[in-house]
Formats: sequence, C-alpha cells, structure tokens
Amino acid sequence: MPAASARRSDAASTDARRPAGDPAATAAERAAAKAWKVELRELGRRAGSLREWDKTLPAPGGWGVEMIGVPEGAPVELRLRLESVMEGVLVSGEVDVPVTGQCARCLEPLSDTLTLDVQELYAYEGSTTEATSAEDEVRRIEGDAIDLAPLVRDTVVLTLPLSPTCTPDCAGLCVDCGERLDDLPADHSHEVIDPRFAGLADRFANLTDTAEGSQSGSARTDPEEN
Ligand SMILES: [Zn+2]
Ligand SMILES: [Zn+2]
Repeated sequence: MPAASARRSDAASTDARRPAGDPAATAAERAAAKAWKVELRELGRRAGSLREWDKTLPAPGGWGVEMIGVPEGAPVELRLRLESVMEGVLVSGEVDVPVTGQCARCLEPLSDTLTLDVQELYAYEGSTTEATSAEDEVRRIEGDAIDLAPLVRDTVVLTLPLSPTCTPDCAGLCVDCGERLDDLPADHSHEVIDPRFAGLADRFANLTDTAEGSQSGSARTDPEEN
C-alpha cells in the first residue's frame, strides 16, 4: 500500500505539470491525447459489465527518464479489460511499450519492448471512493471518459531503470582509451604510470634538483671551503 500511494502522488504531481487543455498543444498533440481517452457510454454503469479494449496508440512525448524512454509516436499496444464496478471502472490488462535509450555503462544505443501489467480503478464522480479519497489518491472518470495516458505513462516511467544497460553484465568502457571493454580482447591493457606514482615521481625529481642546486651554491659561497 505505501508503494501504491507514493505512485499515485507522483502521478498527480506530473499531471499538474501539463494540464489538459494546454494552449501550447498542437492539433496533432490534441488528436493524440484524444486517442488515449476511452468513452464509457458503451460500457454502461451496470456493475459487472465488461468491455475488451485492444488498441495500438502513438506514445505522447515526454515518457521517460534520463537515459531511456518511449520515443514520441512509438506504437504502444494495449490489451485491456474495462469492468464496470460499484464505484467506477476497473481497468486491467497488459501494455507493450517500445523503449529506446543509451547504456549507462558503455553508452551504446539500446532498444527494447517492455510488457507491463496495469490495474487501476477509475472512480465515478460523486462515488464514495471519490468523496473519501484525496485529490491525488485516486484516478477519476472525467465526464463519460477515462484518460489512459497518465496511467500508462506512470507505469512505464516507474518501471524504467535509471541506469539501463545494453546487456546485464556490460563491462563498460576502458578508462584509458574509451573503447567498449566487451569489444576488446580480455587481456586489453595500457602501459600507463599510476597517477599516484606519477605524483611521487615528480616530487622526487624536484627534491633531487633542489639538493643539487644548494650543493653547487654552497660550493661557490661557503667561506670554509676557501
Ligand atoms: Zn553497455
Ligand atoms: Zn583501453
């Protein structure tokens, strides 16, 4: 339960960033946003009424984290069931989401398709669930429709790894030459002085110079020598 409520409050805060009816949205963006809305008239309000909802929809922009995300317009495949229940509509099923990004270790481009489970109750306006839940705790049916985009986006974004890798055991890049270690022979190495020893070597060189300098100086100026 704590995880679920954290998830919902995250959802609400991202929702707030780009409100519906954003005047900056283009006609194409508005059409794409409309495609994610499911009209509920067909389903009806009788509890137990069920509707399959299988569709492939273009991903809106901005679904991602730093190194991986869903390309805008990429086909998101939804296989959902909409079930009318007392308090609202229960949405459940699976989504296939194409993602592209960059390996956090070797920086190679990567792509994958995630299959995610979704399950969410959308509460009717005026239902007990709606009345007893805080604004950000429950998704709501807006008029006669539900917007699936925020649900799928939140599910995807929370699933995306912050440090994606091209393979589970990607060895990353060689710190000396920057090549992918997985592309290099196992015995790949460079003849380099450890920077810690390089610093010591400089200090010893300076000490020797100073010692030699004072010796030759004293040889010239020390009166006892004359
Ligand atoms: Zn990698
Ligand atoms: Zn190297």
